[in-house]
Amino acid sequence: MKAIDIKDLVKTYGTSVKALKGVSLSVEEGDFYALLGPNGAGKSTTIGILSSLVNKTQGQVSIFGYDLDTQKVEAKKQIGLVPQEFNFNQFEKVEQIVVNQAGYYGVPRDQAKLRAKKYLSQLDLWDKRHEPARNLSGGMKRRLMIARALMHEPRLLILDEPTAGVDIELRRSMWDFLTEINRQGITIILTTHYLEEAETLCRNIGIINRGELVEDTSMKALLAKL
Ligand code: ADP
Ligand code: ADP
Repeated sequence: MKAIDIKDLVKTYGTSVKALKGVSLSVEEGDFYALLGPNGAGKSTTIGILSSLVNKTQGQVSIFGYDLDTQKVEAKKQIGLVPQEFNFNQFEKVEQIVVNQAGYYGVPRDQAKLRAKKYLSQLDLWDKRHEPARNLSGGMKRRLMIARALMHEPRLLILDEPTAGVDIELRRSMWDFLTEINRQGITIILTTHYLEEAETLCRNIGIINRGELVEDTSMKALLAKL
């Protein structure tokens, strides 16, 4: 089963900014896939299209077989998104943020409470559950975004530069957590501009530059070439 299937994806912002120039790639269920590339390459645009935040100009995208054009609601249910920017209400409490998120997906409240406990504990945030989000450190906010993305138990987790600005110790613990949930079966795609991050975590890798996929291979094969 393909978790992600992208064919000939084109995105033009306005009339002239060609952010994606015909990208095709697929990610198998269970994979841990890195999209690597320099700033401005088109990584966030790709992630934005996958998560229905950005409209594509041309091409086909499906998520676990659900076409983004015709089965968008189903496609979106498969996805947990961890965007780069903190986009929760800073005045809301940690537990409330994740429980409400589950609510948007129709998860019953008692089940949402259980999941909140599970994911906040796993991400070392359970002690902070009654704190407003603005009291958390940057690293804690980043983990809160991950907990929130998991609350409807998506099959695919999408992370945009998850460890940007995160110190090395926390980065390691986030890596461990992501590796563990991937081992438990969740498919993961992340964007990064650190080769080391891709190398540590990912089985397969796509390298994107100026809106084109210049490499799409296993991490092993890529490292053998370098
Ligand atoms: P990356 O995530 O790899 O840094 P992006 O997908 O953010 O790359 O950007 C790809 C290109 O599209 C860049 O040239 C960027 O300036 C442009 N771009 C991104 N978002 C917008 C937008 N909303 N409007 C216009 N141009 C944009
Ligand atoms: P949305 O309705 O889009 O979910 P939110 O209510 O989550 O928006 O808030 C959007 C942004 O505004 C967040 O970054 C949050 O920190 C900020 N914000 C929310 N409430 C207030 C407030 N009372 N005063 C200042 N900023 C706020």
